[in-house]
Amino acid sequence: MICDTHAHLDDKQFAMDRETVIQRARTAGISTIINIGHTEASCKDAVNLASRYSFIYATVGIHPHDAKDCTEKTWELLLKLSQNPKVVAWGEIGLDYFRDLSPRDIQRRVFIRQLELANEARLPVVIHNRDAHGDILEVIKKHLPEAGGVFHSYSGSWEMAKELLRLGFYLSFSGPLTYKNARHTLEVAANVPEDRFVVETDCPYLTPEPNRGKRNEPSYVREVVAKIAEIKGLPLEKVAQLSSENAKRLFGLAK
Ligand SMILES: [Zn+2]
Repeated sequence: MICDTHAHLDDKQFAMDRETVIQRARTAGISTIINIGHTEASCKDAVNLASRYSFIYATVGIHPHDAKDCTEKTWELLLKLSQNPKVVAWGEIGLDYFRDLSPRDIQRRVFIRQLELANEARLPVVIHNRDAHGDILEVIKKHLPEAGGVFHSYSGSWEMAKELLRLGFYLSFSGPLTYKNARHTLEVAANVPEDRFVVETDCPYLTPEPNRGKRNEPSYVREVVAKIAEIKGLPLEKVAQLSSENAKRLFGLAK
């Protein structure tokens, strides 16, 4: 029983075989999948997908890449979608200073707005942070999400992780934990408390070893679980159980 807490199954890379991919995940013991919205269109697709499968949930939010295109209409749409009982979080939202596809001041303004909207919708948040550690910390300390949240595909230092854990956040691990250069993330995975981590694929991106380079899919989240088990010296089944209990608590999923 494993929960993939961050998938993009609505992506066009799954257009030809989405159903097969979902069935493969079930066969591999993936009990729950959270499908993440990142644009207006993908939020709608995520909610539609979740309505067709009992074990798939959705989130709604606008990625920092698309912050520049947000209007009041965007927030009206997302608030409406968020009322669907299968919507379990607001995200992915945050700051991306690596690709800088939206101006940074607009990214910050849209991030803060969505932290407020998440509170209004009483949902936890899914945060994307790329090369924006300082600003992310400054914003979330001032606008702490009332229902908590998770830093997805966490790749920062243990120093920053400690601060996020103190603020009540969960940390999510993904494919890069299995890569050779994962030194910092290994340290975080070794030290993160057993009740504060979850796992994800971010599929179709960030494919774990030994499939790195291929399209990612939810069944591969087992590789991330196996790596955490190795790092923490725990049985794989124990890590699977912990990560899925944590996901249920974080997203308020039915037991
Ligand atoms: Zn994502």
